[in-house]
Amino acid sequence: MSQVICITGGIGSGKSTVCRYLEERGYPVYYSDIRAKALMEGDYQLREQLITVFGTTIYTDREVLNRTELARRIFNDSNLKHSLESIVHPRVHEDFVQWSKDQTSRLLFKESPLALEIDDQSCQTIVVVHAEAELRISRVLGRNSNWTREDVEARMRNQISDEQRLRLAHQVLDNSGTPDELQEKLDQLLTKWS
Ligand code: ADP
Repeated sequence: MSQVICITGGIGSGKSTVCRYLEERGYPVYYSDIRAKALMEGDYQLREQLITVFGTTIYTDREVLNRTELARRIFNDSNLKHSLESIVHPRVHEDFVQWSKDQTSRLLFKESPLALEIDDQSCQTIVVVHAEAELRISRVLGRNSNWTREDVEARMRNQISDEQRLRLAHQVLDNSGTPDELQEKLDQLLTKWS
């Protein structure tokens, strides 16, 4: 029986960096956001469900997802946001279960930015990657050269607070230091979990 460890955290905290490192170490990683987008485009039934709720404008030519339009539609509309989640998350969960059946590793990792918001029941251990807001903002601005500080702050406001995240974490992985320090901490956790 595999253990599922979810990697979560706010924008710019270092989730993708952690997951890339895990993959380099040979561990399988399921990327929830990437799979959600792939399913929203590639799964005919899911696409039709979304078109029923949001209309055809969230797709270009009925197949390429218009993320900006979708984000605009759910912004400040919690009912619509909830509808989106109740359609997409069960399908992603099904996809994750299928993926996990194909894995042979005893440790499975899932990058799940919303693990705490959606109370993701597939996570046996929830790791919160953490760095202070200012550091995360500067790292995101380094990563996304076309974003402004306001863009990052708006996304942060849309996420649960650091305080809530840290309170709900099973394990906090501090990423305030260098990439080497992050790897060292992760290695210690891998030893503990193995
Ligand atoms: P997330 O996936 O949580 O949004 P990323 O892993 O993409 O965050 O990290 C955000 C940016 O910060 C990336 O450009 C990444 O390379 C960089 N980064 C992550 N951890 C560190 C670190 N310890 N020191 C310096 N830069 C970092």
